[in-house]
Amino acid sequence: MKEEFQAFSEMVCADATYKLIDIKIPLYVLLIEDDNGRSEITAFGLFVNEQRETLEWFFNKYKECYLACSMTRVFITDKSLSIIIIIIFLYLDMKERTVIKPLFPQCRLVICLFHTLRTFNLVITCEKLGITPDERDRSKGIIEKLRYCKSEREYQDMYTIFLSEAPHAVKNYFIKNWHDIREEWVTGLAFNSGNFLNATNNRLESFNSKLKSVIPIFLNLSDFFKQLFVILKCVRSERDNKTIGVIQKHPTKKFKNDDEYKYYKLLTPYEFNYLKQSLSITDNSNVLCTTLTVCSCGFFNSMKLPCIHIFNKWISTNNCLYDEKLCDKRWTRNYYYMSQTILKEPLMPCEGETPVFVDVQPKISKIINKII
Ligand SMILES: [Zn+2]
Repeated sequence: MKEEFQAFSEMVCADATYKLIDIKIPLYVLLIEDDNGRSEITAFGLFVNEQRETLEWFFNKYKECYLACSMTRVFITDKSLSIIIIIIFLYLDMKERTVIKPLFPQCRLVICLFHTLRTFNLVITCEKLGITPDERDRSKGIIEKLRYCKSEREYQDMYTIFLSEAPHAVKNYFIKNWHDIREEWVTGLAFNSGNFLNATNNRLESFNSKLKSVIPIFLNLSDFFKQLFVILKCVRSERDNKTIGVIQKHPTKKFKNDDEYKYYKLLTPYEFNYLKQSLSITDNSNVLCTTLTVCSCGFFNSMKLPCIHIFNKWISTNNCLYDEKLCDKRWTRNYYYMSQTILKEPLMPCEGETPVFVDVQPKISKIINKII
């Protein structure tokens, strides 16, 4: 866990899952994303309660355990210090928010899209806010549009409409709870945190569903731990298998040009697929600020990979489109190979197996040709 966190500490997803253990305590899971888009579990927490002090203890322990690793990384790669941001995805739970904020002052919080919309549905109701069904539907429609705004300007335009059309109770609730933290839940603004385009907590939801498909509900603690570590081992074996696939598999389709081929050699397949889209699409949308190396768009800020707009700039200056400095080091194959545990282990022949030597004979047809 620690080695992976040291290499890929920029984003941490946090979530809790319930009904797994017979004494009815929640399991907290934290995970990160590696540079081939795979998830790695970094911490589990079993809490007897979810009081502020308990959460504080857990995140403090997490900080103690892992800050040494991230500090070591910062020390070695001090130039990347400015882009190292830990983003914590979580439910919209004010307790968690108020615990995490002081403990990780350098962090940006990003609230899961799914949970944001669910909270709006739970709170904005006729009964709770004393509004008519028509007012409720219209307000929720505007708030949903606010959720998907791509920029601050777009958000402000939509916010003006919201203020003129929403009933007083909805405006009060929204201004008090959501407006000032819009960078945490408006999609386009959350991308600026460098969240690798993760707008939801689906990575954790996927792991939690694996837990629930294997572990029966309300299992006793001893059996729960046995099952938990079996699942963890399976998930890691699957990930190691994918890592080997990155080395062994080669594309059968031809590359469009040399630049595309060079980027394929530079990046992991997962990231190359993102970059290939930027290479193949032309976009004339009005972006506020684009140079040959940086852009103000959500894709660039979220992924730290060159976007369509940067490539358009390069085309307009008649340059070739390849420059490895445009891509964050974390997405490169070299970095990936150095960080994967499976590739650090020495190759060991399986027990009982002996090396097989093959004596390759020249093809008969070649021999016949020589005789002729
Ligand atoms: Zn851009």
